[in-house]
Parts: sequence; C-alpha cells; structure tokens
Amino acid sequence: MTPNWSNWSGRLTADAELVHVRSEDDVARRVAAAEPGSTIRVAGRSHSHMPLIPNDDTIVDTSGLNGIISTNVDDQTAWIWAGTPIAALGAPLHAAGLALKNQGDIDRQTIAGAAATGTHGTGRTLQNISASVIGARIVLVGGEVVDCSASERSDLWEVVRLNLGAVGVVTRLHLQLREAYKLREDGAIQPFSEVIDDLAVRPDRSRHYEFFWLPDRDLVVGKAIDETDDEPEYPLAREGRRVAWNYEVLPNHRAWKHTEMEYSIPDDEGPACVAEIRDLVRSDYPDMPWAIEYRTLAADDVWMSTAYQRRTVTISLHYDVDADEEEMYRAAERIFRQVDGRPHWAKLNYLDGEDLASIHPRWDDWWRVRDAADPDGVFLNDYLTMIRP
Ligand SMILES: Cc1cc2nc3c(=O)[nH]c(=O)nc-3n(C[C@H](O)[C@H](O)[C@H](O)COP(=O)(O)OP(=O)(O)OC[C@H]3O[C@@H](n4cnc5c(N)ncnc54)[C@H](O)[C@@H]3O)c2cc1C
Repeated sequence: MTPNWSNWSGRLTADAELVHVRSEDDVARRVAAAEPGSTIRVAGRSHSHMPLIPNDDTIVDTSGLNGIISTNVDDQTAWIWAGTPIAALGAPLHAAGLALKNQGDIDRQTIAGAAATGTHGTGRTLQNISASVIGARIVLVGGEVVDCSASERSDLWEVVRLNLGAVGVVTRLHLQLREAYKLREDGAIQPFSEVIDDLAVRPDRSRHYEFFWLPDRDLVVGKAIDETDDEPEYPLAREGRRVAWNYEVLPNHRAWKHTEMEYSIPDDEGPACVAEIRDLVRSDYPDMPWAIEYRTLAADDVWMSTAYQRRTVTISLHYDVDADEEEMYRAAERIFRQVDGRPHWAKLNYLDGEDLASIHPRWDDWWRVRDAADPDGVFLNDYLTMIRP
C-alpha cells in the first residue's frame, strides 16, 4: 500500500491521517478533537531529512495557510501565514519595499517549517530564519489559540522561534524584515589549496560567501554575493553570475534527490575542519561524487539554534538517496563532534538526547517550556520522544 505521507527525499514515509487546514479555526477544531493518547505532527513542505514528521495518527498539512497577512513598512515587519512557501514571499514583500534578511539555498520550504528547524543561508553577519521570528500565533494542545513574542508569553516565544513542531501548530509568524535590496552574485572555480589559505578571512569580504568542494576534481566552486545598485539583468543568468533582487538571486534549483548531513561548528574551526573532512573523503571514500558545502552564519540567541551565542561555520555532506551513507556520515560526525559540532535539526545525524543536551546550552529550558505546554506529548513523535530528557 502506498503511504499517504513521504518527505522530499522519499526516504521517510508515514501512514497517518493527513488533515488539510484552511484557517486558524480549522486548526483549533482539529487539535481540540484529537483522541486521548493520539499524536499530532505538523508538515510544511516536508523537506526535512530527520524523522520530525512521521507518526501513526495525524499529520496537519499547512499548505492552506498561505499568504502575507499584513506588512508594516515603518518597522519593516510582516505577519505571514505559517504555510506560505518562501518562494511565494519574495515578490509581494518586494512590492511593499521589504525583503527577508537572508534565506537558504532553496526557497521551496514553508516559512514556519524553515523557522522550526533553524534554516539558514550564508553570511558571516546574517542569522538564521528563526532569529527573525519576533512573534507568532500558535494553536496549543486542546485547541487554545495564543500569541507570543518577547513581551507576551516570552518563554513560549523562545521555544516557538525554533520549535521542531513540538509545541503546537503555528498558524502565523511575525517576522523582522529589512528594506528591499539588490544583489550581485559572482562565482569562481579554484583549486582547494588556494581557497583554504584565505578561508579564515574570505567570508568577511562579502555579504554572502560559500563554496562547494567537488571531491572528484578537488576543485572549489565558490560564490560571493554582495549588495549592488546595478540594474537587474533579465533573464537571470545562470547560478554564479546573477544581478537581481534578493529573492531572485539567493534561491537555487536543487533537483537531484539526496540525503544530507550538516553540522554547525565554531567559526574559527571551519577551515581546519573542512580540510579534515576533505582528507576523510579522499582517503576513505574516493568515489564520493557529491559536493561538500561550506557556509557561515552569525551568532544568535534562539534557544535551540545551532548558532546559539556562537559565530558559526556550517559544513554539509550530501549523498545519493539510494546509497547507504551511514558509514561515511558517522565518520564525518566524529570529526564534527571533536569541535563541538551541533547538527542541523532537519538533516541526518545519529545523536541521542544526552548528546544533544550536552551541546545545546538551553536544552533544559526548551524542554521545560515545551513540556509545560504539552505535558502528555500530543505534539511528539517517536524521534522527539527518543531525544526528550
Ligand atoms: C533540497 C533541500 C535544500 C535545503 N536547503 C537548506 C538550506 O539552504 N539551509 C538550511 O538551513 N536548510 C536547508 N534545507 C532543510 C530545510 O530548510 C528544512 O528541512 C526545513 O525545515 C524545511 O521546511 P518545510 O516547510 O519543508 O518543513 P517540514 O520539513 O515540513 O517541517 C520541518 C519541521 O517544522 C515543523 N513545522 C512545519 N510547519 C509547522 C507549523 N506550521 N507549526 C509548527 N511546526 C511546523 C514540522 O513539524 C517539522 O518539525 C534543505 C532541504 C532540502 C531538501
């Protein structure tokens, strides 16, 4: 029988009742009607590789909660329906003179799904999407609808900013934005040896800097993106040569299905750590065809963020979705853990609750607030129960 839910890669499946909601009332009714002892998980665009969504009872599909509710140009903020894909935000925000401060490598995710896992782009001065969440409305267990922000139910807000879908169904987010801006993207291909010499300081010279190391050719495909006053050039050139508005330049098309492991490590460990990952791949996995990605991320104060109070470098490994990646990912994970790495919440890792508690300074606070909001674990699944203290 075909399962009724699967994630983007097709690796994860579930046979749960898929509930499509179109309003906050819908969400509140469905949550209030949950059978005692049953569980509810929420899905955005199901792009997460970790088993955050699968359960046997109910999966709430938020695609019907879509669009911008209101914008405030003076304080550069907007209220946005939780299920809105990031791809659907760029043009209408731009029409209001506003823009996201940054975004990830693709724009298919929902805004709530991206915030719920700490999704980020690259840029040494730029924080992840969760750090832009200044308020939210959420449906809690029993169907209670509440607002939270730094000044209202502030502990709940701290958890909701990066919530793993474990507190309730977020119906709308209040986001801190900035004024609209144009970007120029320049790509360069260089030998790894040239890039590594300069890597500690290279991210300082651009608003966004990242690279993909190609193991089969030992080359680095680098990308630097900076603000510009130049006129946009349409049709958009290919990746590595674009000049246009932020939401046109930053996202890419990633068609090839893959799995991914990503760790956040302290910024100053980045160059040595990526060199060690390269050594591992060259010596033990010389046929590995997938690129390894290197990005930077500013520190933030989001409780469960991988950049919590720490300037960060992120390093990602990718592998074919049909391949068995576990041995290589575990070997890489040992390297990341030696430098106090924190795994991306949505990407593959092998840590248990004790491991995660040891690397997230606000672990106990996050769980204390979550458990108070949902003592019976209605919004937990097997994975979250496994890591729960
Ligand atoms: C091809 C690809 C590229 C990617 N690129 C990047 C990248 O550049 N940077 C990066 O950091 N990550 C990246 N990711 C990871 C991705 O951003 C995260 O998996 C993100 O969470 C996906 O958003 P989604 O809408 O699909 O959320 P889902 O995977 O559907 O859900 C993620 C989590 O959010 C919860 N959730 C979703 N909606 C709600 C809601 N309304 N209320 C409460 N909880 C909710 C879910 O329960 C789950 O726990 C990428 C993933 C893929 C497959």
